[in-house]
Amino acid sequence: MKKIKPHWQILGALVLATLAALILRSIDAQAEGGFIVGFVGTCKFVGTIFMNLLKMIIVPLIVSSVVAGIAGLGGMSGFGRLLGKTAGFYALTSLCAIVVGLVLVNVIAPGLGADGQPNMEIREAFETEGQQASEAALAKVNSAQARSTEIGTGTGGLFAMLADFALRMIPVNVVEAAANNGQMLGLIFFSVLFAIAIARLPSSQGQSLREFFQAFNDVMILLTRWIMALAPLGVFGLLVPVVYQSGGQIFLVLGKYFFTVLAALLIHFAVIMPLILRYVGKVSPLAHFKAMRTALLTAFSTASSSATLPVTMRCIQDNAGVSKKTASFTLPLGATVNMDGTALYECVAVIFVAQVVGFQMDLAQQFVVVLAALLTSVGVAGIPSASLVAIFIILKNSGVPGAEAAIVALLAVDRLLDMSRTAVNVLGDSCAAVVVAKSEGEAGILEDSRSAASEPV
Ligand code: ASP
Repeated sequence: MKKIKPHWQILGALVLATLAALILRSIDAQAEGGFIVGFVGTCKFVGTIFMNLLKMIIVPLIVSSVVAGIAGLGGMSGFGRLLGKTAGFYALTSLCAIVVGLVLVNVIAPGLGADGQPNMEIREAFETEGQQASEAALAKVNSAQARSTEIGTGTGGLFAMLADFALRMIPVNVVEAAANNGQMLGLIFFSVLFAIAIARLPSSQGQSLREFFQAFNDVMILLTRWIMALAPLGVFGLLVPVVYQSGGQIFLVLGKYFFTVLAALLIHFAVIMPLILRYVGKVSPLAHFKAMRTALLTAFSTASSSATLPVTMRCIQDNAGVSKKTASFTLPLGATVNMDGTALYECVAVIFVAQVVGFQMDLAQQFVVVLAALLTSVGVAGIPSASLVAIFIILKNSGVPGAEAAIVALLAVDRLLDMSRTAVNVLGDSCAAVVVAKSEGEAGILEDSRSAASEPV
């Protein structure tokens, strides 16, 4: 029997999960209690196991792929060039994303009523959601509050955030950095230095270490394949509780906001990035989407760019043909610091909340929000709902009142938006890998024969 391709399996799981959850919701309306709670709970359990499996391999995968990719470079010439190109690409594409969000949120003005005044219905929803907030949501807000106090407020707070970023890059304890979920920057920095040192060792010693890390990396690739074989089940488990729980009243109230975020993400995903691929990378955008489809679907299902990293690495090397060296450098870094969708989302969310509470923002203040979204998106971890903390900090910094209640209300509708922006984040990283690889003169990138290569992911 012909094997169904992985992306079709994941897509099938997405559709089945949505249908199952909608059916459960309708049965639930007729109060069927116990069975449904048990089923949704089991799905949640299966989804968590899948997420844990993906997260389990992140640290060894980052270390082995960064070290194997970079140590193999020998003399390490061109390292600074690679870094410059990658950082430049990340900064420019994030800025493009924010500008798209800024334009849409000002044109559509989802926080204002038809009369151009703050929408009272949304304001009330903010307040009731704020009161009904779950403890978990409040804990999130409180820890964000503590963090924003810790790093200071006002524009100074943003610079303190940059300093905090630099400090996190150089960890006191590399094992602790590795253990700290979502704080991969220190680990990447250490792995890059370690790899450069290997490249500088006398050839006999360097050779055995290079072979060791190469084999280690091959093992991690095999583990990634095994885990991805479970993806349809994991995706089903992740999605059923999300669709089952959503669809409350707040969705109707926040519909315009939802539409604004989705439309902006879609423009970046389906117009801006394809244009960059076509005219800067000189590759076919369609071939790129085809090569990356499994990673994009995994990002959408898990809402975590870190958890998706193993799949992104596989797709970009096996299907798109980017070298291990470029992939190992651009992707782990991108999953940690480059978040186009998140930056866009932060900008839209902050201006939306300002509109709702009637806080007028002139152009200069909006410019500060743009800058803040750009800087904070670098520090946001690649895990679900991580950007809400950044939004909270920007709201506080900009002096918008009612940040706590707003964040809790946004959290209530966050999951689907999170899934979408994570897919945009992962697309941005993969585009950087392709564009940088092309600019480095790598051959065979996104040539069609590749997608038919053995065992594509
Ligand atoms: N979930 C996003 C990611 O992993 C981060 C965020 O925007 O909350 O990329």
